[in-house]
Amino acid sequence: MIGHNIKSIKGREILDSRGYPTIEVALATESGIYIASVPSGTSTGKYEAKELRDGGDRYLGLGVQKAIENINQIIAPALCGKNPQEQQEIDNLMIKLDGTPDKSKLGANAILGVSIAVLRAGAGAEGVPLWQWIAEIAKTKPLLPFPCLLYVEGGVHGRGNVDAQEFMVTLEDDSFHEQLRLGTETYHALREILNKKLGKASTNVGLEGGFTPPVQETEDVLDLIMEATKKNGAKNLKIIIDMAAGTFFKNDRYYFEGESFDQKDLTIFYTKLCQKYPIAGIEDPFAEDDWVGFKGITQNLGQKINIIGDDLLATNIQRIQEAQKNGACNALILKPNQAGTVSETVKAAKLALEHNWDVFVKHRSGETCDTFLADLAVGLGTGFLMAGAPNRGERVAKYNRVLMIEQEWQNYYC
Ligand code: PEP
Ligand code: MG
Repeated sequence: MIGHNIKSIKGREILDSRGYPTIEVALATESGIYIASVPSGTSTGKYEAKELRDGGDRYLGLGVQKAIENINQIIAPALCGKNPQEQQEIDNLMIKLDGTPDKSKLGANAILGVSIAVLRAGAGAEGVPLWQWIAEIAKTKPLLPFPCLLYVEGGVHGRGNVDAQEFMVTLEDDSFHEQLRLGTETYHALREILNKKLGKASTNVGLEGGFTPPVQETEDVLDLIMEATKKNGAKNLKIIIDMAAGTFFKNDRYYFEGESFDQKDLTIFYTKLCQKYPIAGIEDPFAEDDWVGFKGITQNLGQKINIIGDDLLATNIQRIQEAQKNGACNALILKPNQAGTVSETVKAAKLALEHNWDVFVKHRSGETCDTFLADLAVGLGTGFLMAGAPNRGERVAKYNRVLMIEQEWQNYYC
């Protein structure tokens, strides 16, 4: 009989899509070798679990050799011999080995890489696709997600001129592959419009594959996107904007599009946008400690649109509970590397889903070609996947994985 217990775990330093080091983990059992890698953010929130970076000169101080040493010297000896299907027990053990509230000792990057590799080995032992194993251990109902495709990037991602960080779009249709097709055709329609109006350099892309045109104002970007959808005949377009407002917050003011706003003015700005455009959600409309701003906008607009907490919540159970108690938002960005383990990510998603929140499984600006996020979105039945533009291999890999699951799905359910 083949044994499924963990035989070895090894970390290695690889590059993410920005050219910065990250971690890849190879976990072996007698039945196979399971690989996982870890993403990393640029507009990182302060309540996220902490990546361990080496400092010094090598790779601009961003090396992950210490984190890899922690995998090889501390985590691997503690996990070898264990059953990878005991995900919760293994995650708890790593949390205990680390011993800090933010995983800063061993590194959330080290712990998450191992946690995902363990999950893959668990699915391998069961002989089922990863999404199905996730649904089994999480006790959730699998669902194919809506792709939230990224069209335009600004702020610290785009280095263009618009201050808002991400403009994403969902389009309704009967199936994931048709939603993806329509959304991708519209992305190409936008490319043509930008080329014509603003020149070829305007279709250069940002960290996540969104165009970075030299456009100053949020409304100008929204007008361009609306024009692209008209050209393509796409219906039921909904726009989600990630303001990443923490990136333009300083001394209690928001410095945005050449002006300085307080919470009230910024809420008025958002309200006007929602009256003019088909906006379905605003992510991080205020900075991560601005509970007052978040509560105000949720009271004003929360009946109509999703007020989505990313840096505010940091996939952190306590912060999600706090937001639910206070009515600070009504939707969750789910990023496994903000939590640091698969088990905590699952718990965060379930907490949000039980509260009838929409949950958006989301990539980071620094990604690898690992497609775990696609299986996570399907397995947890979150309903939405934000994996960037239909451009850049590390982004497209996730959407392509959902296309593969869509076919597997037909075998299981049809
Ligand atoms: C985000 O803010 O939602 C995001 C994906 O950016 P980053 O990964 O740079 O934090
Ligand atoms: Mg965000």
